[in-house]
Amino acid sequence: MDAQRIGRHEALLLLAHITGKNKLQLLLEENIPEEQARVFFNALERRVSGEPLQYILGEWDFYGLTFKVDKRALIPRPETELLVEEVLALNPLRVLDICTGSGCIAVSLAVFLKDAEITAVDISADALALARENAEWHGVAHRVRFVQSDLAGGLLREPGQGFDAIVSNPPYIPTGELHGLQTEVRDFEPHLALDGGVDGMDLYRKLLPQAKALLRPGGALFLEIGPGGVGELATAAGFGAVRIKKDYSGLDRVVIAFL
Ligand code: GLN
Repeated sequence: MDAQRIGRHEALLLLAHITGKNKLQLLLEENIPEEQARVFFNALERRVSGEPLQYILGEWDFYGLTFKVDKRALIPRPETELLVEEVLALNPLRVLDICTGSGCIAVSLAVFLKDAEITAVDISADALALARENAEWHGVAHRVRFVQSDLAGGLLREPGQGFDAIVSNPPYIPTGELHGLQTEVRDFEPHLALDGGVDGMDLYRKLLPQAKALLRPGGALFLEIGPGGVGELATAAGFGAVRIKKDYSGLDRVVIAFL
């Protein structure tokens, strides 16, 4: 086992999780019960093989909330918190989250928008099951409706009604770049949640007209983006004002398009 591959902090986090002790207690204590030591070495083995820490822990924080995470969906990323922040600023009542995955966006919005009704869709039944577990865990399952659908293709606009906000973090990695991703992502996270087609834009092309049809006039679409050009696509699809927000690395990360 090449233990050099992971940092001391990660090893300590795993051990703290398994023993139920905090890191300081662990540093002061020498004896770990045999069963916990066995579980720890097994976890370490998994981590050294490249499995993400988040999947081994089985939970990870997003927007100040703890989410259940496993191989059914992408691990919540910190830059996606920017997307949630932007949606919250609009204070929408009816929200649609497309490609909900673990449900981290939909559930955070349901927690922080006390009166909002959220619809969360995903093509993967496994991801939806995980998202539902997260909604139940945070006590908001009664305000989140889960729908299995390829993007928003399975949704119909109810007469006289439209969504105030539509939010999505769709797969956007160009297919040819998948093999170059770090082991943790490439070998352990679902490719269905990452692969955005040849130029990474396939899902935006399908999603923009669907979002336009489902938003109410004046409603807003919030997209996490990887590749450039999504803002231009939104304009071409008939959206009005388009704003782009950068992430903390200075990369364009969020497109906000108003109808
Ligand atoms: N940001 C993710 C990554 O770089 C990709 C997320 C996505 O495709 N929506 O691994």
